[in-house]
Amino acid sequence: MPDKADLQSVLDRAVAGGRVTPEEALELYRHAPLHALGQAADAIRRRRYAGVEHIATYIIERNINYTNVCVTACKFCAFYAPPKSDKGWTRDLDDILRRCAETVQLGGTQIMFQGGHHPDFGVEYYEKHFAAIKKEFPQLVIHSLGASEVEHMAKGSGVSVEEAIRRIHAAGLDSFAGAGAELLPERPRTAIAPLKESGERWLEIMETAHRLGVESTSTMLMGTGETNAERIEHLRMIRDVQDRTGGFRAFIPYTYQPENNHLRGRTQATIFEYLRMIAIARIFLDNVAHIQGSWLTVGKEAGQLSLHYGADDLGSVMLEENVVSSAGAKHRSNLMELIHLIRTAGRVPAQRATTYEHLVVHDDPANDPVDKHVVSHLSSTAIEGGTAHPELRLIDAN
Ligand code: SF4
Repeated sequence: MPDKADLQSVLDRAVAGGRVTPEEALELYRHAPLHALGQAADAIRRRRYAGVEHIATYIIERNINYTNVCVTACKFCAFYAPPKSDKGWTRDLDDILRRCAETVQLGGTQIMFQGGHHPDFGVEYYEKHFAAIKKEFPQLVIHSLGASEVEHMAKGSGVSVEEAIRRIHAAGLDSFAGAGAELLPERPRTAIAPLKESGERWLEIMETAHRLGVESTSTMLMGTGETNAERIEHLRMIRDVQDRTGGFRAFIPYTYQPENNHLRGRTQATIFEYLRMIAIARIFLDNVAHIQGSWLTVGKEAGQLSLHYGADDLGSVMLEENVVSSAGAKHRSNLMELIHLIRTAGRVPAQRATTYEHLVVHDDPANDPVDKHVVSHLSSTAIEGGTAHPELRLIDAN
């Protein structure tokens, strides 16, 4: 057990703007008192956002799941259906455009196009769909996909990942959501996603995207049996790439959900582990601007707490989400509640753009939105029989 004074001196150095080594980060993550970690992370956040440190942001977005058919069979996934399964479905373009229209109508600014690795979908599929979305809804930001999808579509079309990225970017993709990072170190990644590309390859593709001018966020799936050292190694791998590219806008850890998948029964990450990760990410990732807290997988109270452990953003009102909720995430929220959660955590809420500019600062509660339709709809596809939901009825929800 390291000396408390030694741990505090590392935290003091980080607060003063110094860099923390991976070895020090692991010691802090394992042994630093929770409140000391949170205090240091919050001080770093305040320094980085001096002048707007009283604000915490959120976004209104919709995840559009275009297919659940997938050849990759990740063990933690409760969403996919193998090819030829009668549980597989694919949305047609009209359905996707209708969901985009609802997103615009409800004040959403971003869509996350998210789905399985369909054996028939190459670069052409994404070009066609992104171009159609941008033609009808140029105001929607397409913040979607990740390195895994790029690897899959490039192989399917017989082109390089560089060409795949150039083409989908030209067709309308604005930025990558950083999906598929899971755990980047080899041992835990192979244990939960043996058919996915390696962590090194995932980073290589994101680095290529950044070089081509397509920025991204980065993610981490916590709680599938990885060690603390492997969690810190995941952060190190991201920080090293970020030193070269500066293309990761944010880091977003989230916790494994145990229902309906092959890992059922494994220990989940606790709230304390989650908060420690938010804090250590703010302390260690000194080159990543935004650390995103979440309410979907860890609950609303933990989401509020994350804003005091280094997070500057509380995620989104997800007008639709099917992937994590299929695995058991049952928390729901809405625009008014999300604003309330941020305000009662002691911050001024602000709706943000994908690139984190403030669109609306809710500095006067009297002017808060009152639209009850802006609700997070979860598991619209995870219904009995596993077929696609015939109609979402978002506009009619109350
Ligand atoms: S996580 Fe993605 S790639 Fe893995 S099985 Fe699920 S849909 Fe397929």
